[in-house]
Amino acid sequence: MKQLRSISAMRSWRGFLSNRLVLVPTMGALHHGHAALIRRARKIAGSNGSVCVSIFVNPTQFGPNEDFSAYPRPLAKDLALCRAEGVDAVFLPKARDIYRSDASVSLQESTLSNTLCGRSRPGHFSGVLTIVAKLFFITLPTHAVFGEKDWQQLAIIRRMVRDLDIPVEIAGCPTVRETDFLAASSRNAYLTPVNRAQAPRIFAALKNASALSSIPAVIRSAQKSLAAIPGARIDYLEAVHAATLAPLRNRKSPGRLAVAVFLGKARLIDNIPLPVLP
Ligand code: AMP
Repeated sequence: MKQLRSISAMRSWRGFLSNRLVLVPTMGALHHGHAALIRRARKIAGSNGSVCVSIFVNPTQFGPNEDFSAYPRPLAKDLALCRAEGVDAVFLPKARDIYRSDASVSLQESTLSNTLCGRSRPGHFSGVLTIVAKLFFITLPTHAVFGEKDWQQLAIIRRMVRDLDIPVEIAGCPTVRETDFLAASSRNAYLTPVNRAQAPRIFAALKNASALSSIPAVIRSAQKSLAAIPGARIDYLEAVHAATLAPLRNRKSPGRLAVAVFLGKARLIDNIPLPVLP
């Protein structure tokens, strides 16, 4: 497995590839959710293609009071996971190579970013889109894989690729959960044992609510269950259209029930489908 630590090393490796290159962008602290993305990438790449995982804790997608410095960076463990999953190359750029000190161009999405995480994390999706576009330009993948756990991120990246005619095929990968159904996340490491024991109630709240037939009933039910979790504070809880992320009014279009909850120091996000009901 190659370790490519500069843009020029990445570009020269890329230059020798003539078949599919599937990129899996990550911020490291890899877990079995990331492993599922890598396996999906391997399948898309096929026996002649290549899989590249990028590991970069992107400073521009963190707000001033967020966890950029505290974000876990267990590089040796990450490399071992990539090697075990048959990754061909890991791209490990340095922040100073990615962002010039006088950089003055960035990307902005102006509709889907105005809700959910975009509302509580101003500038976050601009940071995400800018780094994803840069990674696409540097690595020139034919395909890229993203997780449905970050549903809004996936929707916004699909929109960027559509609106800018970027020739990269985007694949979404279903959310991977722990055995108690808590969505796997690098940020679960921030949970105290007490909060960790409560955290699966977030998914349970969404799951139970999603069976109800009216959207107000779905929201009321989830709100009630989430409010009953000791130490939890709801950042947002919304039913949105699956593709446009516009508020969902009824169960005649495919939707997503999405939540962000503070549990102690951790801000956990999750979402589940709200399928069309007959
Ligand atoms: P991150 O390293 O958290 O930025 O995530 C990198 C990629 O992994 C993103 O596309 C995430 O949506 C995806 N991902 C993270 N956790 C999960 C999970 N539990 N299930 C599926 N995909 C995930």
